[in-house]
Amino acid sequence: MTGRMNRQILLKTRPEGAPSPDNFELTETPIPEPSEGEVLLRILYLSLDPYMRGRMNAAKSYAKPAEIGQPMVGGTVGEIVNSRHPNFSVGDVVLGYGGWQEYAISNGKGLRKLDATIAPVSTALGVLGMPGMTAYVGLLEVGQPKPDETVVVAAASGAVGSVVGQIAKLKGCHAVGIAGGSDKCRFVIGELGFDACVDHRSPDFAKELEAACPKGIDVYFENVGGAVQQTVWPLLNDFARIPVCGLIAQYNATSPMPGPDMFSVLRKRLLLRGFIVSDFAPKQPDFLRDVSEWVRTGRLKYREDIVDGLEKAPASFIGMLQGKNFGKMLVRIAV
Ligand code: NDP
Repeated sequence: MTGRMNRQILLKTRPEGAPSPDNFELTETPIPEPSEGEVLLRILYLSLDPYMRGRMNAAKSYAKPAEIGQPMVGGTVGEIVNSRHPNFSVGDVVLGYGGWQEYAISNGKGLRKLDATIAPVSTALGVLGMPGMTAYVGLLEVGQPKPDETVVVAAASGAVGSVVGQIAKLKGCHAVGIAGGSDKCRFVIGELGFDACVDHRSPDFAKELEAACPKGIDVYFENVGGAVQQTVWPLLNDFARIPVCGLIAQYNATSPMPGPDMFSVLRKRLLLRGFIVSDFAPKQPDFLRDVSEWVRTGRLKYREDIVDGLEKAPASFIGMLQGKNFGKMLVRIAV
């Protein structure tokens, strides 16, 4: 490997508000050699996920911040190109956490071998990975949907939302998506099979959402917060459940945003429960069994938005926070 270089994208500075390309730096460093007990991964796919915005802040959260001067953190699918680890061989393709770079060293901890005969390996970062599992446990464990209930989810064409609505349909619910723009809404109804989808940028958003939910809302899978949340809130039924999964509309906010009406929480006996996908780690075998089968049999569809080249990661990540992605956002680094 000597002489060949590893391109990396480092976190250069922490953003105030929305991130910009200046917060990142593309550098080159020699490809490292694995020590005893380690493997060298050639990254095939890098996942871009909204949580990375939180990692760019210094503030303590449920996970450690990304460090200035270090490669940005991120889930990856990679091929082992050099192994000094007894459990991994050259040619194995693994899910891991290699970060925003072309090559990564791993001690094997947290690596999971992938079988390309089950599904394309990129799906391990989307529908059959962390976002798919988030939808599965968030809806079924926290949302507890019952047949004929109305389930509403925003960012409905995205990695998590697309799976939430399709599982809701599989469980006999009325599934309503919220998405940005008519192309996304058409896809959510036509391809994913939701009963309805409303464009949150429409001037009549509130009226259109009310019309799409004639029996009110029983489960609101909270992905975005902000103005969408304010519109959904009055439509909640008594005893509605709100799995609080993400608040992407608020990730770049520099001052607190208006919160939910707590009087409704009391009056309607609402159940709000925040969760992090890792809270439900023991459910992973159930998730992989059910969702792999639904994907294999075509009952659950997925869409990927793939850009080529590590250097595209910052702009694609910034775009995703503005809704420019259409499906699970991935960077193809090598295939
Ligand atoms: P997506 O693939 O859905 O991409 C993000 C989407 O968010 C955009 O395409 C856009 O869709 C939507 N969006 C961005 N800004 C706004 C806004 N101001 N108002 C409304 N919608 C907006 O991302 P994911 O599926 O990966 O993530 C969805 C949510 O789930 C995020 O909040 C994320 O943080 C959360 N999450 C939480 C996890 C947990 O463990 N709790 C784990 C994984 C994800 P559109 O154009 O349709 O508006």
